[in-house]
Amino acid sequence: MNIGRQVLLTIIIITMASFTLASLFSPKKGKEVEEFMPLIDPWEVQIVPPGGSIFSVLSNFELSGTEIGMMAYRFGDYIDVTTIQPGDTLKVILDESREKISKMMFVQEPTVRHHFEVVGDSLAYFKEALPVKRQEKILDGTLETTLDAALLSLGLSPAAKQSINNGLEGEISFQSDARKGDKFRVFLEERIFEGKPLPGAKILYVNYEGQRTGFHELYRYEQEDEKSVLNGLYNKEGKSNNASGVGFPLASIHVSSSFGRRLDPFTGRWSTHNGVDYRARSGTPVYAVANGTVTQARYNGGFGNEVRIKHASGMITQYAHILSMSARVGQTVKRGQIIGRVGSTGRSTGAHLHFGLINNGKYINPNQLRMVGAEKLNDKQMKEFAQQKEKIKLRMERKLNPPEEPELAAKS
Ligand SMILES: [Zn+2]
Repeated sequence: MNIGRQVLLTIIIITMASFTLASLFSPKKGKEVEEFMPLIDPWEVQIVPPGGSIFSVLSNFELSGTEIGMMAYRFGDYIDVTTIQPGDTLKVILDESREKISKMMFVQEPTVRHHFEVVGDSLAYFKEALPVKRQEKILDGTLETTLDAALLSLGLSPAAKQSINNGLEGEISFQSDARKGDKFRVFLEERIFEGKPLPGAKILYVNYEGQRTGFHELYRYEQEDEKSVLNGLYNKEGKSNNASGVGFPLASIHVSSSFGRRLDPFTGRWSTHNGVDYRARSGTPVYAVANGTVTQARYNGGFGNEVRIKHASGMITQYAHILSMSARVGQTVKRGQIIGRVGSTGRSTGAHLHFGLINNGKYINPNQLRMVGAEKLNDKQMKEFAQQKEKIKLRMERKLNPPEEPELAAKS
């Protein structure tokens, strides 16, 4: 990187010097200097390595720790850090001091570009998404050995497989009832870019039929908020297989900072982040993730207003920077009960929920919890679900029996 930069600078200096020299001898050539300048690409580029984070790529730009910590922190306000993949690209333009970033572009997937510009103390942000084509697919399969193997042979991605597996496991006990020759169908929507499917196919429908299992089907329910924890597969009663696992502390999940080592946005020093930060608007309800007893509800230094709940397993969940608490010490709470509202109390640079998990007096990574949406949709959601189900059925029928006329091009 350094060597590259030096070489580039040397080339620029030599080139400029020769133009200057040339212009001394023939003054008319001076114009070429102006034409040459815009050809220099002002962006410096870093690619996220395997296992890398926004910190590791920012650290390569030789900025101060505070600048790295602050930029990474602000970055998390716009981009869910759990969606960052190896191969994503970060481009920056440094200011004249070369110590601070003035512009930043983050390229995710091939189709999404996030643009940032530093304006005074804040960041201006906009997202640019290149058009993608949507394509529906019906996949029919027969069980030979395991469902997983059958789904794999249909070319489904690990994430799609997991969503189907999880959904059907709630309906069928595969261990005892699955048999060779059982049939299943998957209806999904893919996003196609430059002729290739992008990761993250949306499973709209799954069915499974076997001699011992009987017939089961699941439909996708989706809320307007694309990050809603409720989006997923449900059976006809509006139940998901979500009885096991704990709930989410918020209705919509955007991870702005993960558990583990990070550069502190206040000090610019490396420190351990003992929890996960979820970005949310001030006032958003905070839910208890599982049944338990409130062991703490008070102002606690850097954590601001903090609620702690002890659960039957002995684990303690922690909810910090809360604006207003609605839980008292000693109170028993149920999963999904509101215990407070998101705020920015204590040591915090903006509204977010800090969620911690404590086991035997030690902070552990909360992402080891299997967090799931609601076990069952409520009445209002059931009405929406019924409408969405009809639409999916119609789309599937049209896919199986296409109309005579050539189909209109897929929406983009
Ligand atoms: Zn935090």
